[in-house]
Amino acid sequence: MSFSTPILLVIALLAILVIWRIITSPDAPGRVTFALSAVASIWWIAMVVLRLNSVELSEKILFSRLAWFGIVATPLFWSAGLLDHAGFSQVTRRVPILIMLAFSVIGGFAALTDGYHHWIYTGILNEEQPTFSHGWLFYVLLGGMYLCMLLACLLSISQLKRASRLHRRQMVALLIATLAPWAFNAAFVLFGFRLFGDDPTPIAFSATVLAVLFAQHRGKLFIAPPIARDIIFSILPDPIVVLEPSGLVLETNPAAEKLTGFGAETVGTKLPPSHPLMAFVKREGQAGSGKPIVEFDAMEKVFEVSVQPLENWGRRGNVMLVLRDVTEREAAQKSLSDAGQALQLRLEENLRLQEQLEQQAFHDHLTGLFNRRHASTVIPPLISAASEDEPVSMIIVDLDYFKQVNDQYGHDVGDKVLSHFAKILSDSLEGAELAFRYGGEEFLVVLPSAGRDRALARCARWRHELATHRIVELNDVTLTFSAGIALAPHAGTSLAECTKAADVALYRAKISGRNTDVVWGEHLDGIVPEGPIENGKAAERRARRGRARL
Ligand code: GH3
Ligand code: MG
Ligand code: MG
Repeated sequence: MSFSTPILLVIALLAILVIWRIITSPDAPGRVTFALSAVASIWWIAMVVLRLNSVELSEKILFSRLAWFGIVATPLFWSAGLLDHAGFSQVTRRVPILIMLAFSVIGGFAALTDGYHHWIYTGILNEEQPTFSHGWLFYVLLGGMYLCMLLACLLSISQLKRASRLHRRQMVALLIATLAPWAFNAAFVLFGFRLFGDDPTPIAFSATVLAVLFAQHRGKLFIAPPIARDIIFSILPDPIVVLEPSGLVLETNPAAEKLTGFGAETVGTKLPPSHPLMAFVKREGQAGSGKPIVEFDAMEKVFEVSVQPLENWGRRGNVMLVLRDVTEREAAQKSLSDAGQALQLRLEENLRLQEQLEQQAFHDHLTGLFNRRHASTVIPPLISAASEDEPVSMIIVDLDYFKQVNDQYGHDVGDKVLSHFAKILSDSLEGAELAFRYGGEEFLVVLPSAGRDRALARCARWRHELATHRIVELNDVTLTFSAGIALAPHAGTSLAECTKAADVALYRAKISGRNTDVVWGEHLDGIVPEGPIENGKAAERRARRGRARL
């Protein structure tokens, strides 16, 4: 028995262990193809062992030829496993697997029938341990296998950068496992390197199986495979779209196929320029702060878009768009802002009503002047601040014979007269001066820092205005008024005292013939009571009861 036999048998046993561990592992990228590669390598080793232990040359040649099924299949499936593990899962679809199987079977049969065509072996160089001179098919098969392994190794290395630490360790272990038999095979074919006088490749599988076993044991090969990336991509509920600047769709996940304008066949087609996602290709969608929002009206959905340029992944100009469905969030925000707006409107309405109420509370609705209630609030501080040097004039103005206006022209015209006169008063106000509707056709005007002369001058101005700006309905009738003027603090230091004094002065004005102004406290001669006796007497009684003096 050759010295190689026990080594090869151990390697075959280890390969069986590898297969067993692969079979008992959960599904993982490369799992099936690595297992097939291990099966093929066991076949190869078995044929080598049989050849080594054959006596007849014909048997040795037969086993050498039978080994070709494994010689072709082992590197092919190994390369596929390497690619699958590195993320190129397309190689493990049914068609590529069938092609690899077919290729291995054809290679094996080509070797079996070599006696007829000698495409693989052209002659035998050593009969003891059969060594052959090679035909063209040998080099074609060898070149094909080397090319497959080279591609698999390069693509696998290209993925090393992106792999996580554990997956990188797994990939490095698999690359080492690939390179060991390959290097020995190349050394054998190119330089005639031999181990125990024979092709060293099968024995170099020991490095392969040990590396895989080590990776399985320590690196969780097939237990913790890099499968999440693909799974995430396909199960993520967020649509993902990869676009070229021209709008060509390069990749989509299943969630993206449900977007308007997308479907199972969209990859490889161009989006129309009007498609909402085209804004992100032109980079218009990236302007502004925060993530851009895109609306798909037909779907009645709103998405937030994360735009990921793919420059760093070697795809200059391409973008990956990750869309997040924010329809509900936007709807909630909208209803919140609607509610906020409604609340704001209600608030404004309340403020308006409050202002209106205040207006109504302090103002007389007919004339728009302050009412009597407001007078009791705002006048006392003015009176308190009055001094002999800075007196406050309080003027009570009463329209003369107003009852006759009502009687003759109607209440509406009477109202109009009141409003008209109120406007004359309010238009004349300056600075802190105030005008109130104090009773039916009685008005109170307060002039801070104003003595008798200013008060009288003001009355003269009102009289003039009333006489010149007539009300049409009154025809040629000239309206007049009488005014009583009290100066604080001379006439009193409270609102009650001052208005009482002004009232007395007004009475004096009335009884002196109306259409005149009387200042409380000033001596008046020849006052002749006039007008309704009741009024006069009542006023006189009031005047006597109060502190007011004339
Ligand atoms: P005098 O010169 O003495 O002041 O005579 P007068 O007619 O003006 O005074 P009197 O107090 O007799 O009449 C006041 C009238 O004012 C009686 C009332 O009908 C009228 N009046 C009071 N409030 C209003 C109002 O809001 N609108 C109208 N149209 N008339 C009013
Ligand atoms: Mg009156
Ligand atoms: Mg009157």
